[in-house]
Amino acid sequence: MAEHPTEACRSCKAEVIWAVTERGKTMPVNAEPELGGNVKLTELYGQLTAVVVPAKRVFGRTDLRKSHFVDCPEAAQWRRR
Ligand SMILES: [Zn+2]
Repeated sequence: MAEHPTEACRSCKAEVIWAVTERGKTMPVNAEPELGGNVKLTELYGQLTAVVVPAKRVFGRTDLRKSHFVDCPEAAQWRRR
């Protein structure tokens, strides 16, 4: 799969990838996959889509990313918006 474009988080400057959830909401995802992530990026109908992987299928995987909402030190501000 081609590299996804990254962008600096407006709050903490971390590199994130903007994707759309299956419910059609935009969501920032950490640029780098990491252990403990549960978000899979995939292209659906030409749209980069963030699919949340069920917890029982996440264990030990290093190809999944974390939602930046979870990781961002400024996340409280995001939620208030
Ligand atoms: Zn951030």
